[in-house]
Amino acid sequence: MRDLLGGKGAGLAEMTRAGLPVPPGFTIATTACNLYLANDEALPAGLEDQIISQLQEVERLTDKRFGDPQNPLLVSVRSGAKFSMPGMMDTILNLGLNDRTVEGIISQTGNERFAYDAYRRFVAMFSNVVLGYKLHHFEAVLEQFKHRAGVKEDTDLNAATLKDLVKAYKAMILKELGIDFPEDPFVQLKMAVEAVFRSWKNPRAITYRNHNKIPHDLGTAVNVQAMVFGNMGNDSGTGVAFTRNPSTGEKALYGEYLLNAQGEDVVAGIRTPNPLSTLANELPEVFQQFVTIAERLERHYRDVQDMEFTIERGKLYMLQTRNGKRTAQAAVKIAVDLANEGIISREEAVMRVDPASLDQLLHPRIDPNAKIDVIARGLPASPGAATGTLVFDADEAERLGREGMKVILTRVETCPDDIHGMIMAQGVLTSRGGMTSHAAVVARGMGKPCVAGCESLRVDLERRTFTVGDRTFGEGDTVTLNGSTGEVIAGAVPTLAPELTDEFRQVMVWADAIRKLGVRTNADTPEDAARAREFGAQGIGLCRTEHMFMQPERLPVIQKMIMAEAEHERREHLAKLLPFQREDFEGIFRAMEGLPVTVRLLDPPLHEFLPNLVDLSCEVAVLKATGSDPKLLREKETLLRKVHSLHESNPMMGLRGCRLGLTFPEINEMQVRAIMEAACQLAGEGKKVYPEIMIPLIGHVNELSTVKAQLESVAQQVMEQAGVQVAYRFGTMIEIPRAALTAGAIAEHAEFFSFGTNDLTQMTFGYSRDDAEGRFLSHYLDSKILKDNPFETLDQEGVGQLMQLAVKQGRKARPELKLGICGEHGGDPASVVFAHHLGLDYVSCSPFRVPIARLAAAQATVGTTQMRDK
Ligand code: PEP
Ligand code: MG
Repeated sequence: MRDLLGGKGAGLAEMTRAGLPVPPGFTIATTACNLYLANDEALPAGLEDQIISQLQEVERLTDKRFGDPQNPLLVSVRSGAKFSMPGMMDTILNLGLNDRTVEGIISQTGNERFAYDAYRRFVAMFSNVVLGYKLHHFEAVLEQFKHRAGVKEDTDLNAATLKDLVKAYKAMILKELGIDFPEDPFVQLKMAVEAVFRSWKNPRAITYRNHNKIPHDLGTAVNVQAMVFGNMGNDSGTGVAFTRNPSTGEKALYGEYLLNAQGEDVVAGIRTPNPLSTLANELPEVFQQFVTIAERLERHYRDVQDMEFTIERGKLYMLQTRNGKRTAQAAVKIAVDLANEGIISREEAVMRVDPASLDQLLHPRIDPNAKIDVIARGLPASPGAATGTLVFDADEAERLGREGMKVILTRVETCPDDIHGMIMAQGVLTSRGGMTSHAAVVARGMGKPCVAGCESLRVDLERRTFTVGDRTFGEGDTVTLNGSTGEVIAGAVPTLAPELTDEFRQVMVWADAIRKLGVRTNADTPEDAARAREFGAQGIGLCRTEHMFMQPERLPVIQKMIMAEAEHERREHLAKLLPFQREDFEGIFRAMEGLPVTVRLLDPPLHEFLPNLVDLSCEVAVLKATGSDPKLLREKETLLRKVHSLHESNPMMGLRGCRLGLTFPEINEMQVRAIMEAACQLAGEGKKVYPEIMIPLIGHVNELSTVKAQLESVAQQVMEQAGVQVAYRFGTMIEIPRAALTAGAIAEHAEFFSFGTNDLTQMTFGYSRDDAEGRFLSHYLDSKILKDNPFETLDQEGVGQLMQLAVKQGRKARPELKLGICGEHGGDPASVVFAHHLGLDYVSCSPFRVPIARLAAAQATVGTTQMRDK
């Protein structure tokens, strides 16, 4: 019932029902929060009465009374939404304390120090969450008191001092806010519940939801629970634990705890906590009980659990269980292990890994043989390598990150207010806090490298530096984090291609057995083709030939070809390019032997191969003014004339694509000759080749039929000369709306369609991508005019409709028509799912995204099956 109770409330209810030790309590449903927020922050009718009656039930179960000076019940008030949002919303502990009930706690526990410690924590937390008074004010007063008492740790303050501290806190609230701190526990409770409701809309929660695509209309539940105390001495404590390692996926209970500590002390990084394993020695019985409960919870939820617990005088209480956030590496290992242990099915294992997160596993890692200058070592809190310049505050990290700079956000510890900076940083470094500190949890969730608790760093936030030994690093210095080892390294470091684990290969094998959609790659070199094949590509869906002309020994030749005035001159230069092209294709065909390779004929406007108009004009002007080199001046002037003549006001819609081949057929002819000669060479060696020749940017069927007629004869001629037959096909891209609208006619001349969703998106929206992304698109996204960037995630309603039409008409005209996507959307999980539903044969994407597409395609199949079964 997570929709209604939130994740935490649902977990608590289920643990209670299973008979696990959970402090008594109740959950106020998310619907109450939504009503409250919709109703100008007025509590829904009847809610107060319900709270009171539920509280009476808690009183009965605990045999304590809320507000009773002799035998007081204290409660915690915690937020808990459907999707976990670590630290984004608010929590209040020890609620119900006042000057009278604190006496009851003293007489019950016989521990005055403990009672006032709980009281001062409550006043600070309540004032912060409910009254909006910043915690650092309280920390400053606490520091003064510690200084005056001559002690270092909070735990060294005695009862009398803590009692004075409570008075000082309340006096500060009265002076600064003009408010008497509320003494009535019922008033405290009502105010706390409202504050938790309101925390649903605090800026950091909104930022977190935006980043994680969590809807804003879910609301939060509120969990009110009897307090149990981890700060009652050294037989008490509090901790958090995962049933498996959330960073690596290793099957071993993993966690941290602090003795004599309360609530958020562990995650807040106030003291660096102990690893859970030492609890086995300190409180062996509690540890054993915890191990048993953890195993039971994991089996029950059939997934890794992230649990919070408190030990009060040797008795264990469970405060939370939820599915644990994990890195991509851990997600893959855990899914495969759970399936192998028979806890989940292979289909479920495939569904458990977020395809987009695989990106993290395919990224480079630090070359183990590189000479590195390790400055310091912290905890390996979130794996991967990140290089960037040091930045010491979140606003600055956000600002520089937006400007495109790579930054490492460095803090003593992070808190939820740093979220915007973490989003824009390459990696996160903290000097305090453990593996479950805020920095570590959030970085893992984001898939960003993090080194936490690097205690040898002395961070000076004022000066924006850190010192380690006798070395100081400051804002602007470059460092590299190795989140897999915890190393902080000076400067940038060479990296290596990633290593794929056995579990990764396993989950991919399962995905391949499930999916219906083929996955090809976009590759222009034999190296890329080979890498993509290793990642599981089933052919090339797009080989962009223009990249081949940009190499140093070829560019001058193609420039001369463009400069040539007469066809015979152009042909001379093209003849020089032919052997290069043939070699390119031969390499690619070899790398993809036995699989189809779609080669696209030249697409971009020719001026892209010539110097920039403005630069060249300047050069000519300078040469003219100095008169230094008349010969060079003449050459440059000729070049400038050509550049001028090719200049277009809108090159994206100008002389490019099939229009080039129709204007200068000899270019296409050379390319097709090169493709077919290479293919015949391989076929002659007995190798299997399946070239697919793709004609770009068709808008009218006559463009295709004309170009194709020219090229068919070239293909036939080459095969005759070589004396071998090759099974080649001609097809086209569908990337202009008109082509999609007239797909039936076009299919008469095409054996395949490849949706060029980059151009199709540009032309359907009427946006030029380069201009849109730099200017208005981010504004559109921020202000929700568009939900997603249509160049990243396919616009299903608009562009998708054109595709649907083209699929239908194309298949009607030619049932065996092959259909694919070769725009960037081919590697975007949501777009891959759409391609599956459209019934395409394949998607094609860059080599590193091939595994992402394979997994997304399998998830689409499982998702469809599940829908049918329901
Ligand atoms: C496309 O338009 O989707 C495409 C693949 O072509 P390019 O991105 O090279 O224009
Ligand atoms: Mg295109």
